Amino acid sequence: MVTTTIDVQPDELAAALRKAGLSEIETGTRRRAEYTSDASNYRVAPLVVAFPRTTDDLIAALGVCGELGVPLVGRGAGTSIAGNALSAGLVLDTSRHLNRVLSVDPERRTAVVEPGAVLDSVTSAAAPFGLRFGPDPSTHSRATIGGAIGNNACGSRALRYGRSADNVVALDVLAGTGVRFTAARYGKDGQAPSAASEAGLLADLRALAGGNLATIRTEFGRFTRQVSGYSMEHLLPENDFDVAKFLSGTEGSLALTLGATVRLVDAPRATALAVLGYPDMPAAAEAVPGLLPHLPVALEGLDSRLVDVVRVRRRPAAVPDLPRGGGWLFAETSGDTVEEAVDAARKLAASLTSTKESRARTATAVSTMPISDIEAPTTRLSPARSAMIFAVRMTMSAAVPLRNFSAMAPTAPNSPAISRPVSALKSGARLATRPWAAPPLKMFKVVMRSIPSP
Ligand SMILES: Cc1cc2nc3c(=O)[nH]c(=O)nc-3n(C[C@H](O)[C@H](O)[C@H](O)COP(=O)(O)OP(=O)(O)OC[C@H]3O[C@@H](n4cnc5c(N)ncnc54)[C@H](O)[C@@H]3O)c2cc1C
Repeated sequence: MVTTTIDVQPDELAAALRKAGLSEIETGTRRRAEYTSDASNYRVAPLVVAFPRTTDDLIAALGVCGELGVPLVGRGAGTSIAGNALSAGLVLDTSRHLNRVLSVDPERRTAVVEPGAVLDSVTSAAAPFGLRFGPDPSTHSRATIGGAIGNNACGSRALRYGRSADNVVALDVLAGTGVRFTAARYGKDGQAPSAASEAGLLADLRALAGGNLATIRTEFGRFTRQVSGYSMEHLLPENDFDVAKFLSGTEGSLALTLGATVRLVDAPRATALAVLGYPDMPAAAEAVPGLLPHLPVALEGLDSRLVDVVRVRRRPAAVPDLPRGGGWLFAETSGDTVEEAVDAARKLAASLTSTKESRARTATAVSTMPISDIEAPTTRLSPARSAMIFAVRMTMSAAVPLRNFSAMAPTAPNSPAISRPVSALKSGARLATRPWAAPPLKMFKVVMRSIPSP
């Protein structure tokens, strides 16, 4: 575990930040109290909250923290659910000023954005070109690019658009060591870095990956929805040493994101929703492989017990009509017109109802579910993996404690500190999974609705 002792008072840190050029610095009790939490059960009081106005402010802040030995954390909307956006030192909130979409390139299908740009702003800026930013966590109207990259966020449409890591082209970053560099896909042989310090850092990272090929190939990137954590697999030669992808999900613990070039995807013109009812959630999960060939944009499961809570606490009419069942899958399909989208939803549903044979085929397909590759719930991080995670942290942020891990204080015993840097640094961290039962598929009813395109 990384331990950090902070021997600095709020006023001292604030004075040093002001001297370094930052202007919006707050040490008041109310402001610090506001930033003691994100959307999690953790409570950590920062010394200072700052609202950087420029990239230079971010760079200066890291310099000051390095000199004073104060941990810092970048923060967007603060919607993290595992204490990811908290710090016992300095919180740098980029959402107030560094929130612009600087440019959209419809030809290259990319956007250049500041770290505090809200995901919906990026999608709005891209909309005139029929494009959008793919990852859409439920918090997309508040969550920022810096935070989404920090958490490697994805959402219900990750099936079609992937995680944030799959949607970053290049990142302008400042490593904890103070080295500013472009994190990108460097290819097998690497591209010529612009400065010696940058070259040194990338060479160190490449050497770290090169020296641990077996561990990385066997222990990292084992399932496609893996999000937070150090995704060392992106540094493998066969994955083109993609440092932008690697930094996605590292929760600001290795580098500050100063800016990002993100990929844009086609925004569907029309979408429709098929709601499929199953006896229970394991049966719904079993059905998923049979649905994937229909390329749904989104596929979400919902247990009827959750819906029952609403029915009981409010009234039955509070919940709209749903197919009978103990669990549902909501499959979103797309098309150029509403008719096309609805037709795709009908086909998807029909493929599961048609014959006994197709049901059997779906059940058989469960054995090839990618999610079945996930480790059993009791699996612990191997010593080699833990050691490497520590090494990459030392390579990129030895100079400044970008996160103050030891100060984390969960208020709930089962807080979801799982498979992410915080827990990865503690031995014995576990992956959150549960075994799937496998009763046969049974679908009761299909509901079609057309919903407006985003
Ligand atoms: C109700 C609810 C629903 C949610 N649904 C989803 C979901 O569907 N899918 C999903 O993936 N997540 C979901 N989340 C989690 C969260 O909303 C997302 O991960 C979101 O993208 C975080 O964005 P943010 O701007 O709030 O980031 P923050 O919480 O501010 O920060 C997230 C991480 O990124 C780091 N960071 C922020 N800015 C920078 C920067 N400039 N440089 C370096 N590091 C930085 C922070 O230090 C932190 O570790 C949900 C959360 C809630 C509360």
